[in-house]
Amino acid sequence: MTLKIYNSLSGEKETFTPIHDNNVGMYVCGPTVYSNVHLGNVRTFMSFDFIYRSLVHLGYKVRYVRNITDAGHLTDDGDVDNDRFVKQSRLEKLEPMEIVQKYTVDFHKVLEVFNLLPPTIEPTATGHILEQIELTQKLIDKGFAYESNGSVYFDVLEYNKRGLNYGELSRRNIEELFANTRDLDGQNEKRNPQDFALWKAASPAHIMRWNSPWGEGFPGWHLECTAMSTKYLGDKFDIHGGGMDLKFPHHECEVAQGKACNGVSPVNYWIHANMLTMNGQRMSKSTGNYILPMELVSGNNDFFEKPFHPTIVRFNFMQAHYRSVLDISNEAMVASEKGFQRLMEAMKVLSNNNFPIAEVSSFDVKAWKEKCYAALTDDFNSPILIAHLFEAVNFIFKLKDGKETISENDLQELKTLMTDFVFDVLGLQNIEENNNEKLDQTLQVLIDLRNQARKSKNFDLSDQIRDRLLAEGIELKDGRDGTSYSIS
Ligand code: AMP
Ligand code: ZN
Repeated sequence: MTLKIYNSLSGEKETFTPIHDNNVGMYVCGPTVYSNVHLGNVRTFMSFDFIYRSLVHLGYKVRYVRNITDAGHLTDDGDVDNDRFVKQSRLEKLEPMEIVQKYTVDFHKVLEVFNLLPPTIEPTATGHILEQIELTQKLIDKGFAYESNGSVYFDVLEYNKRGLNYGELSRRNIEELFANTRDLDGQNEKRNPQDFALWKAASPAHIMRWNSPWGEGFPGWHLECTAMSTKYLGDKFDIHGGGMDLKFPHHECEVAQGKACNGVSPVNYWIHANMLTMNGQRMSKSTGNYILPMELVSGNNDFFEKPFHPTIVRFNFMQAHYRSVLDISNEAMVASEKGFQRLMEAMKVLSNNNFPIAEVSSFDVKAWKEKCYAALTDDFNSPILIAHLFEAVNFIFKLKDGKETISENDLQELKTLMTDFVFDVLGLQNIEENNNEKLDQTLQVLIDLRNQARKSKNFDLSDQIRDRLLAEGIELKDGRDGTSYSIS
């Protein structure tokens, strides 16, 4: 089956052909770890988690690189002395690298809660300073960059003079750009306001600094992604992703850096995920229109009437296509919760397996399977895939009521496909099963503690554990193979 991907570079859905057979190189811009990720950030990372899961499910071997931006991201106010880390470290009275560690840990925790798979490589900007210095030098040597007061800038005008077309990804008209931009950053250091920093000289107060041929400084944000993507995936690789808002200038600059350095456009398929909005406005830290993921999960917020399990949030996100804007609301979350429960109920019915097997099925599983894969391979269309899964859900309930029939082969196929799509591809989790697992783990801990108490002849404690569990309706039974429990 052919996979079609919407390529932001061409503005069209294209047939996906990896550079190396079945291997896919995918780079996704990671978080800037100077504060907690908000729910909007989570949506973008989840969109790429779904794309990653889909590619793996379709049989590709994926090298998935997602970086951690832990240096060099300047503040929006264009204050050259303040990158985001230095600014936040002053606010929190911590070392910049403590800020980095604190929010990297938070980022990983949040993504785990929402069942995102880790990338196969997770490089950091600070771990690749040498590569960034080398790239900067290469761009200077090739005449695409110039030094000015200890900083180095990419020369956009020169790039364009050589017919390399700055603006091709974001489809911006370069002349307009030149006419409409004020020089916020770098004062008069730059030849043109459009030029962007590859390396910034550090002021004496700037703590995050490294030695370079141009003096002490720190790398520009756009350069790190070129350094890390090409290091791990090659000068030209298959997929580059990120949120829509990164298309310009960040990704445009990556294209320019790659073409200037290596003579080839670095990426075959550019994928951009759309934004999460709240109250109809883009979720963003700077406007204050945001909710933290754990605030939604814990219910500790003024926007939602109750807490929502992370997998319900995931289901809600998956109900929208990754290229559509998604507005999060209480009503939509409540509806997702209902839909999710129905889906899980059907999964339970399916695994309980207590319906009669017939010679022929009244449901065309083969045709249904094709429709599911058609949705998945049509630019990863999760809402359409979910709609097809619900056709199967309706069938499963009718089957249970004896109003439909299924053959043994079809039943096995339906089970496998539903499990694959629901849990592996969409990344949903069975809340009930998870809770049962947790309960089992907790009871095993108590059984171990009781055994230890008995060994050390602390029978008071061991009896207490047994009796108190019994009072809660959990009976411990000691047998030859150890202790088991039953719940009444
Ligand atoms: P940042 O840490 O600011 O670089 O953002 C991390 C990722 O989240 C980037 O890919 C952004 O495009 C994305 N992002 C930021 N705001 C939103 C939003 N409201 N909805 C979806 N993605 C977002
Ligand atoms: Zn990036």
